[in-house]
Order: sequence, then structure tokens, then C-alpha cells
Amino acid sequence: MKYLSTRGHADRKQFCEILLEGLAPDGGLYLPETYPQVDAAMLEKWRAIYRDSGYADLAFEVLSLYIDDIPAADLKAICEKTYTEEVFGTQEIVPLRQLEPGLYLEALSNGPTLAFKDMAMQLLGNLFEYELARRGEELNILGATSGDTGSAAEYAMRGKKGVRVFMTSPQGRMSPFQQAQMFSLQDANIHNIAIEGVFDDCQDIVKAVSNDLDFKRKYKIGTVNSINWARLLAQVVYYFAGYFQATTTSDQRVSFTVPSGNFGNVCAGHVARMMGLPIEKLVVATNENDVLDEFFRTGVYRVRASADTHETSSPSMDISKASNFERFVFDLLGRDATRLADLFGAQLSTQGRFDLSGDTTFQSAARHYGFASGKSTHADRLQTIRDTYARFGTMIDTHTADGLKVAREHLSAGVPMIVLETALPIKFAATIEEALGQLPPRPARFEGIEALPKRVQLMPADAAVVQAYIASHVD
Ligand SMILES: *Cc1c(COP(=O)(O)O)cnc(C)c1O
Repeated sequence: MKYLSTRGHADRKQFCEILLEGLAPDGGLYLPETYPQVDAAMLEKWRAIYRDSGYADLAFEVLSLYIDDIPAADLKAICEKTYTEEVFGTQEIVPLRQLEPGLYLEALSNGPTLAFKDMAMQLLGNLFEYELARRGEELNILGATSGDTGSAAEYAMRGKKGVRVFMTSPQGRMSPFQQAQMFSLQDANIHNIAIEGVFDDCQDIVKAVSNDLDFKRKYKIGTVNSINWARLLAQVVYYFAGYFQATTTSDQRVSFTVPSGNFGNVCAGHVARMMGLPIEKLVVATNENDVLDEFFRTGVYRVRASADTHETSSPSMDISKASNFERFVFDLLGRDATRLADLFGAQLSTQGRFDLSGDTTFQSAARHYGFASGKSTHADRLQTIRDTYARFGTMIDTHTADGLKVAREHLSAGVPMIVLETALPIKFAATIEEALGQLPPRPARFEGIEALPKRVQLMPADAAVVQAYIASHVD
């Protein structure tokens, strides 16, 4: 399997080459040259594998179609080390729970940091450690986080050989629980950097350091952001696992609703569907930051300015542009890299928008690719959290509530609807309390974390200061 860039660069790369890279050299995103096809017989085989040998072996089946530069026995060992009951809390890893007939929640949030990003990041940590050891190299991951990504990355990389994490976050802006999750880590290879500024300042620092090519090369700076293909690939697996739990035979169809921000999660659903998983609809749920809902309703993709990006009670979906969206549009345009480079390169940077409403390909977003969308507001979240708790005794987080609200607008008889649960309520306790008048339950391992000693460096919003810190902590 070789990988190409959405913007048409001539290089074709192998999986382990793009594993440690960010964007392609032309600014595009990597995608496989073709999507491997899974027929009904293969689906039945995978159904049996998931049932009889478990999620790790299902993950191995899916990943081995895309990764041919890691020996099979090693890849299998990596999957088995990653997806354990000990780390993810259940034998199914992503258990499905029925709310009412035909409507399900797929639990993706029982990993180390209680958000679905663990599903991919835990695998990434093990892949990085493996590949860096094989090359005899080291990597210093520099990131910016407003919450979930930073903690998922730190818990995935803690104690890993050859990897250090330098994670910037805006001082005092994360929830107390999120701060405690990150800052209580005592591992020597994890560095928390609180920046005197807002999230955009953190992102600017990461950009400035990455653009300093000499520094980047000398200190082996890398990232783990959501455009990484390995993260997306890891997420494809749970669409299959959800399907197998909701159906008994592989002629049945299901739909998924996905609380979306950067379009990474739902893009993995698109890949699963392109492989032949019988998905009827992929419903994109947004909050007030409705860039994606607007596109799927109107054909206009319009990125937002920082000032028009709302701070909401489902903060992990507060995006101004959807960084993985380019992958889907590439397929939508019949993989026309020239046209794609014009839309995402030229048009977005000069006009901040592009318009496919008059284009026949836009109609196929719904017709051939099954996409639908909807949006949810703070009032909808409160109402959905209350209703779900009152009727089913199930407490859901704010992002999952956005998903469930939108899912209900897209139900169709005879097609199970699976809503992806992207975080546990404890991560967003204040809004749960607002909705229900009570705090969500806290898993025992997080009891009292706010009181643990904190390991964090406070710095001004100055890339040079961050660079000096990195230089003095890399031997
Ligand atoms: C990251 C995140 C999302 C958005 O996922 P994308 O892949 O960026 O679309 C939704 N919910 C939670 C809880 C998240 O952490």
C-alpha cells in the first residue's frame, strides 16, 4: 500500500514514512492510493474474529490492509499491547449500549483520558516507539492543546522510549479536571508548558517553532495532530466493531452520527464506508460552530475567523476550520488533485471560502457518500442530557449530547443508528451539573487528582522561550 498527497505531489510513500510526518511536502494530506475492499465473506470473517478473539485482532485485520512495512507478527503484537481490557475497561473495548430500539451509543471513551482520542493515540504511542527504535531515532513532540488532545497524547507517550512531549496549553483555560489530568503526570519525558495567553497563542508558538527549519531538524520536532493518517486509520476499526455489535448478518445496514470538529472521526467512518462497510448514513453533528453543517446543507465551505469561533459547552468541537475535511473533498471531487489544490490552497487562503453548491459533485455528498448533518446548541445539549438521564438513567457528556440530538433528526425505520460517545461526562462536569443539578460519577482512578502535585512550567507567549526550554531538555 502506497500513500499519496491530496494536492498531487508526485511522491508515493509507505506507511512508516508518513507515520512520523505531518503534512505532505505540498501542504496536502496523505491518503492511501486506493481503499482496500471488504466483501460480505470478509465481513463475516471479521465479525467472528471480533466476537471470538477480540478487538485487538480485528484492529490487526484492518490495519494490515494498509500497513505492509511492519512485519505482521510485530503489527499484531502492537495491536494486542494497545487494545487491552486493562486500558480500555471492557473486553469489547468499544461496547454498544441500546438506548431504545434502533438507537445506540457506542462507548469510545473508556481509555486513559476518558475521550475517544485515546482510541487512536494509544496505538500511535506504540507505533512511534516501535518505529523510532527500529530507526535508532528520537522524536520531540511539540503540541498545543485546549484540553482533550494534549492529555490523550501525554498518556499515550508517557514512559515511551525515544519520545518526549512538550505540550503547550493556555494558562488557566482548561477545566480543573483537564489540568489535573495533564499536570499530575510525573514521567520524565512529559513536559507541560502553560502559556500566558490563549489557545491561539499556543498554536502560533507551535507554528513558529515548526517553521524554524534548522531548529526543527536539529531537535527532531514532530507533532501528533489530527491530520496524522495513523490516527485516522486506528479510528476506522471501531466503525466495524460498532457495526458487528448492532447487526447479526452482514447484509444489514446501519447509520452513524458523529460529534464533529476537525472531521477526523467522521472521516474514518467515510473510509470504512469506502472499504465496503454497509453504512447507510454518516451524520455529521456540530455545535454552534457549524462550519461543517453549513457545508453539507448548502455546499459552501466557509472557514471562520477567531472572533467568530464560539466558546461552547462542547469545547472539543469549537473549531474555525475542519483540518481533515480536505480528505473527504478529495474523494468527493473524484480525486482531482489540481482542483483540490485550487480550492484548499488558492481559494481558501484568499477568500476564506469555496462554493460547491452549483457543482454536481456536491449532490453526491449525500447520494453517493451518505453524508447528512445537523447542529446543536447549548440549550439542546442541556435538554438532551436531561432527557437521556430521565428516560434511560444514562448520563452523557456534552459532545455526545450534540450527537444524540442530531441523530434523532435522521432516524430511519429498520436502520440502526449508532451515536459515537466521544467523552465521559466527568470531563465536562460543570455543564452536567447545570443540566441535572448533580455531578457526574468519577472513575475511581481519578479520585482526588486535583490535589496531586503538579508538574508544569509557566512561560510567556514567546516561541524563543519555548525553544530554549526544549533545547535545554533534549540531551
Ligand atoms: C476531538 C473531539 C471531538 C471532535 O472530533 P474530530 O475528529 O475533531 O471531528 C468530539 N468530541 C470530543 C469529546 C473530542 O475530544
